[in-house]
Amino acid sequence: MDELKLLADADARGLRYLEGNATRRVFPSNAAIAALSAFDEPLPASGLPAEDTLSLLDRVGSPATTASNGPRYFGFVIGAALPAAAAVERLMLAWDQCASTFDNSPVAATVERIAGRWVLEALDLPRESAVGFGTSATACTLGALATARRALLARQGWDFDRQGLMGAPEIKVVVSELAHITVKKALRILGFGLDRIVYAAVDAHGGVDAARLPPLDDRTILCLQAGEVNTGEFDPFAPIIARAREAGAWVHVDGAFGLWARTSSLAALTEGIEGADSWTTDAHKWLNTPYDCAMVICRDATALAEAMNSDAAYLSASADAQKNLTLEFSRRARGIPVWAALRTLGREGVAAMVERHHAQAQRIGAELERLGYEVLNRVVLNQVLFRGATDAQTLALRSAVQASGETWFGGTIWQGRPALRISVSSWRTRDKDIEALVQLLASLRGDSRAP
Ligand SMILES: *Cc1c(COP(=O)(O)O)cnc(C)c1O
Repeated sequence: MDELKLLADADARGLRYLEGNATRRVFPSNAAIAALSAFDEPLPASGLPAEDTLSLLDRVGSPATTASNGPRYFGFVIGAALPAAAAVERLMLAWDQCASTFDNSPVAATVERIAGRWVLEALDLPRESAVGFGTSATACTLGALATARRALLARQGWDFDRQGLMGAPEIKVVVSELAHITVKKALRILGFGLDRIVYAAVDAHGGVDAARLPPLDDRTILCLQAGEVNTGEFDPFAPIIARAREAGAWVHVDGAFGLWARTSSLAALTEGIEGADSWTTDAHKWLNTPYDCAMVICRDATALAEAMNSDAAYLSASADAQKNLTLEFSRRARGIPVWAALRTLGREGVAAMVERHHAQAQRIGAELERLGYEVLNRVVLNQVLFRGATDAQTLALRSAVQASGETWFGGTIWQGRPALRISVSSWRTRDKDIEALVQLLASLRGDSRAP
């Protein structure tokens, strides 16, 4: 089979998969999962045909997907893939560009530069900031925190690049008690030591309590968050960032999904966030681009470009070349699907999506209360956190939902007890999908009672 036929076959299979999106099981059946054993082949000595390889992946693999690219998936904050963003990815696959520098790919460098400008406009962050497009909020946070430490040490007269950490002035880190695990992972990898981190206490809703903020100084990195992963809560940025600036601390904001509230009528939740030094956010969550697509944004463009610099005799580039803003050296142009999403949604389209998901989440919260569930958060964003009357009921409901194939969402531990998390973040989710979810939860209300 020739290349074009093979790719057309792949496209046709992809389209058939998408056509089935509305009706497929949201979590695969046990039979589909058992059938995955078909992949357990020995590594072939000589190559097998490409069309068989594709067809095996589709035949056995497609039924074992979670329908997270569909309208009825409410797990984590996953988003779906907007048509425009998915379409440009297909073209980009044909290009197969290494989007590290202008010399590698003039088109990638140009479009990513525009995408960066649009992101700053959409999120209303300082226009002088550098925007690096990386694979995840995790990787982008790692880059931002490495930049923060290097910059704070430079202010102390310490050359981190040459001297490293041995004997360096100690940099303290303050994070929310409810900081996302990937922020802690980045700190751990960077050598901050989990037991040395100072935790900022949170209030009953899950935002950092400004009145109990630990002391800050000019050797402190303070990590705040826009959109706590269970409740969707925001830290009170304005008062906390004012204090951090006065102290000379570096403020980083993890806004993996919550930063997008700033594009909408919910922007007040992010008030003062523009005063931070660095931010990370994902496009693959609430902007609904395909994976893996995220951004590191740094007010001091030079600080990020110096920390992430990877110029070499054979490949030196401008300070805003993507290879000098992210951890990756070779990468796909992660900014192009962001550009496509923003270009096709426009400022108003992004805001409308965020506002719709907020309204849908509020509706779910209200219906759950009506059904007698305990809603545990204020539903300020797209997250609904709730539980049943007893822990056994909560866990039984989770199992029943996940086995139903009708929808999918997951559990968590909130204030020491099991709880359930519903996230609304797919552009495909319509009000009728919310109604179906509520109906399912109403019907399981009886079944899920502990025996
Ligand atoms: C998902 C998430 C992250 C990590 O993002 P990845 O892109 O998966 O690495 C960090 N913080 C919050 C609040 C998140 O929801």
